[in-house]
Amino acid sequence: LADLDAARKTVEALIRDVHDYPQEGIVFKDLTPVLAAPEALEQGVQAIIDPYRDAAIDRVVGIEARGFLFAVPAALELGAGFVPARKPGKLPHETVSVSYALEYGTGSLEMHVDAIEKGQRVLIVDDLLATGGTADAARQLVIAAGAEVVGFSFLVELDFLAGRRRLDGARIESLVHF
Ligand code: AMP
Repeated sequence: LADLDAARKTVEALIRDVHDYPQEGIVFKDLTPVLAAPEALEQGVQAIIDPYRDAAIDRVVGIEARGFLFAVPAALELGAGFVPARKPGKLPHETVSVSYALEYGTGSLEMHVDAIEKGQRVLIVDDLLATGGTADAARQLVIAAGAEVVGFSFLVELDFLAGRRRLDGARIESLVHF
């Protein structure tokens, strides 16, 4: 990526704050204006991929649903395969599942049992890192498959929610920080 700062500015300018969505008190970072603008989309995708170009990635795991939007182009450009991590009941074949605590209640993520092979090098991609619960669940799925989590890549990171701390010690790359 020729100019990371320029990419950051282009993307950040198009992120829309939606207050009290999906519930009161939450400021939702709406990335659809980024997706809709060709230059921002290109730069955002490149920024997610760039740190891992020489990392010999075998599989990119994308987290449902907005993570898919960035994980598939990342996989294509890294010459890797794409693997979906999905909400319960969405994957047709046999799955492995991990439950994790949400702000209210619990969530689960599932992956096909045969989607990743032992020893493969895996990049985990999502649109946004908040508390890190979702990303941590994806990491556990990859580890359960006997594979290696090389790192995480996000378009946006909400620093004040300390997701980075929850993913303790992992390599984490994010283009835009709030
Ligand atoms: P967390 O597990 O808390 O890190 O939440 C991360 C997941 O929730 C990601 O898949 C995000 O897409 C979504 N998310 C959490 N908080 C926000 C927010 N403020 N704006 C947009 N998406 C969010």
